[in-house]
Amino acid sequence: MTAAIEVDLVSDTTTRPSAAMLARMASAPVGDEQKGEDPTTLALNEEVAGLLDMEAAVFLPSGTMCNQISFLVHCRPGDEIIAAENAHVVASEGAGAAALAGAQMRPISTPSGLFGVCDMVAALRSPRMRSPRSSVVSVEQTTNRGGGLVWSAETLGELTEAARDWGLATHMDGARLLNAAVAAGKPARAFTRGFDSAWIDLSKGLGCPVGAVLAGSKDFIEAAWVWKHRLGGAMRQSGVLAAAGLYALEHNVERLAEDHANAKLFAELVAGLPHVTVYPREVVTNILFLELDGPLTSGEIVAALAAEGVRIGAESDRRMRVVTHLDVSEAGVRKAAEAFTRAVTALV
Ligand SMILES: *Cc1c(COP(=O)(O)O)cnc(C)c1O
Repeated sequence: MTAAIEVDLVSDTTTRPSAAMLARMASAPVGDEQKGEDPTTLALNEEVAGLLDMEAAVFLPSGTMCNQISFLVHCRPGDEIIAAENAHVVASEGAGAAALAGAQMRPISTPSGLFGVCDMVAALRSPRMRSPRSSVVSVEQTTNRGGGLVWSAETLGELTEAARDWGLATHMDGARLLNAAVAAGKPARAFTRGFDSAWIDLSKGLGCPVGAVLAGSKDFIEAAWVWKHRLGGAMRQSGVLAAAGLYALEHNVERLAEDHANAKLFAELVAGLPHVTVYPREVVTNILFLELDGPLTSGEIVAALAAEGVRIGAESDRRMRVVTHLDVSEAGVRKAAEAFTRAVTALV
């Protein structure tokens, strides 16, 4: 028997727009975005450009489109993009860089999703006729499949400086950049300094139904607009969606700290269980992974949790992912941890 889902920890994309957010959307002044006439979208773009300390920004339907348009602008066919092996751009975008920009990935093996200047330099190709051209380094803040870890501003500064010396463009997949900013107690711009392109997702922890905003120099955003149009990402009365983003930037950023505390709480509550490996100290934002061994498999746990109205993600047979967000309270997290504990206890 599957109960109705009460606590959904599969992803921070499962949030529903709140009544206050919907009210803001309903009353948004709108116009034709393609013509640059939607005042609410223009306001959101300006807000995000300021937040990331970039010259300009553009509203897009999704984070995936932000990544793909960035690569389309930064790369020529035959180029290579340096990124962590477990990065979203490598593993979760349908090989978009190859299919659209004609670029291939140069994955760095790093379970945490973090890497340093040495790793980047080791991944560079020598400039020979038969070699791919190294043209972009892409980082993910926070590292999703790496467990929601935060790149330090120092490491990013070293990376962008070295990248510039080597003639690489720098790109930040900032799907959860604001989680990093809140966790580190630093403004988002401390992390985006020196990057040629960076974006934030509105539909993850910020709780909006749709949207992402890509930022960069004026020239970069002008080039991005050509691709936005070509790919069908140019919109009309998008202010209805952008209003949700403006609402979220006002109301849903500081509260990300609650999601981080809840993720750590979940880890602490299940840390002692047999055949479950999780390190609460390593939970710094809203994502955590649970490694299973012995008699435990993800499928059986998912089924047992479903009967109690709880969902967590199964990444593989032995690996599960928990993501906290604004639609899950501390009480919900405690309920989920109790259900998880019962499921494990029944299986061992
Ligand atoms: C979700 C996610 C994306 C893609 O964003 P969408 O808005 O779902 O297209 C890209 N990168 C990371 C790290 C993500 O978590």
